[in-house]
Amino acid sequence: MKKSPFKKIVFTVIIALFIPIFSYTTFQFVQRNKDEEMIRKSYRRQLDSILFSINQHCWDVFRSWDSALETIVTTTNGDLSADLQRFLREQKPLIASFVRYSPIRIYLVLQDGRIARKKDYQKLEGIVTKEQNKIKKMIKRAREGYVKPIAVTWSREGEQSLSLLLFPVLQGTKASRKSILAGFLIDDDLFVENVVARKFTEINDGTFVFAVRDKDAKNIIYFSEETEDDFEKSEKLWLLPHLSLEIKMQGITLGEIAKRRTLTNLVFLAVVDIVLLLGVLYMLRNISHEMTLARLKTDFVANVSHELRTPLALIRMHAETLEMGRVSSDEKKQNYYHAIVAETTRLTQLINNILDFSQIESDKKEYHFAKKDLSELVRRTMAMYFFHLQQKGFQVNVNIDEHIPEIKMDAEAVQQAFMNLLDNAMKFSMDQKQIDVHLYQNSKNIILAVSDRGIGIPQQEQRRIFEKFYRVGSSLVHNTKGSGLGLSLVKYIMGIHNGRVIVKSRVGEGSTFSLVFPVDKSREA
Ligand code: ADP
Repeated sequence: MKKSPFKKIVFTVIIALFIPIFSYTTFQFVQRNKDEEMIRKSYRRQLDSILFSINQHCWDVFRSWDSALETIVTTTNGDLSADLQRFLREQKPLIASFVRYSPIRIYLVLQDGRIARKKDYQKLEGIVTKEQNKIKKMIKRAREGYVKPIAVTWSREGEQSLSLLLFPVLQGTKASRKSILAGFLIDDDLFVENVVARKFTEINDGTFVFAVRDKDAKNIIYFSEETEDDFEKSEKLWLLPHLSLEIKMQGITLGEIAKRRTLTNLVFLAVVDIVLLLGVLYMLRNISHEMTLARLKTDFVANVSHELRTPLALIRMHAETLEMGRVSSDEKKQNYYHAIVAETTRLTQLINNILDFSQIESDKKEYHFAKKDLSELVRRTMAMYFFHLQQKGFQVNVNIDEHIPEIKMDAEAVQQAFMNLLDNAMKFSMDQKQIDVHLYQNSKNIILAVSDRGIGIPQQEQRRIFEKFYRVGSSLVHNTKGSGLGLSLVKYIMGIHNGRVIVKSRVGEGSTFSLVFPVDKSREA
């Protein structure tokens, strides 16, 4: 089967427009995920590096304390406790420090100058015993040059949490190296505040929110800014592993940014696709409209040729009969003359419609307005049609109200509109050959109505019949001749008179077409 041109166009549109654009949409969609993954990765790296540098800083601080302690131990000239005391006073987070030469020679010094109590020594000894294995390993590693302290929870009283850091202090030359166990008692809160948070503030340019969580106590012990959202990255604090550093972006998280971006992108793509779809639908509609118009024009040429040929043949036949003198009676002759006049009127009407239509289309049609009596125009036209109507067996009722005021109009154009309505009423009447013409006035308008009892017009077609070339698709209409121009001209003519044409019709019952002229708004000449 041959493909219809419309199907071909739809097919071409799909190939030429939809496929590339939807491929692009899909590509964008996939690409967007890749881009996002890249951004996400580099962002995570950034968070990692911030946490790393904080950890590194804590480590450095510890190393400085460690080496300070080492110096004190090596250079002390007798009063180790006093030296330790002096050192502690300068280090806020350090609550106490000890140096343990042996279980019986421990220097435990408290920062606030209090003397350590017996139970403190016992507690320390208990921890040393408990962590013996770890301590041994730690000392071994320290000898190899790698110091990693052991962190133990010392006490947890209310808000205050103290951690004990155990590490070895090496003395002597490499060959005869002696290791002494030393340690710091650290206040977690003070450490976080003075070391961890300070470093974070130094690095942060306001982009990040930072917190420190105590994993043992399962609560946040510090945050740079209050936030309800979850943190994006968390990392153990190397020095005090029961604490973890947590970080996220200020305000919305990257996940949310990505989500929002995805949503915006999707909405944008959807809008673009919808606009495109609408554009294509609009284009297809226009193409289909143009194609219908082209088909209607072809029908029009066929219809008009037919319309011209029929009256011409009739006129010729009647004229030849008369010429040959074959018509004997005067009455018959008169009938022939009337027939010729009627057919000529029809022809003129058709040609006028076509000429007017083409002039209107090319913007060349001119109208001449003057105050005229519509009743007179109706009477004159009806007189012209009288014989024709009678011949076709029509019952005609003309009802013209009195005192219809004159209105400004192009009488020729209005007559043409009226004649088109009369023609249609005749053409589309079947057995019930009754036409009513009514000219009347209501509060605002003067109305000229032409009613028939013909085939009627389906509701859904009633708007379209005023389009140029449009003819109702029923077989009844196809059997009648016509150009499809009549009503489009009527509508146009009423438009230039600031009026309108209204149709009321029921299939099988008949139609009433009313030309409505506004009284006050009628056009100035
Ligand atoms: P034409 O009459 O030459 O076909 P018109 O523009 O005058 O063109 O009318 C358009 C169509 O409207 C007609 O083809 C017909 O289908 C419908 N129509 C117009 N007047 C009537 C009427 N009085 N009764 C039924 N159908 C009508």
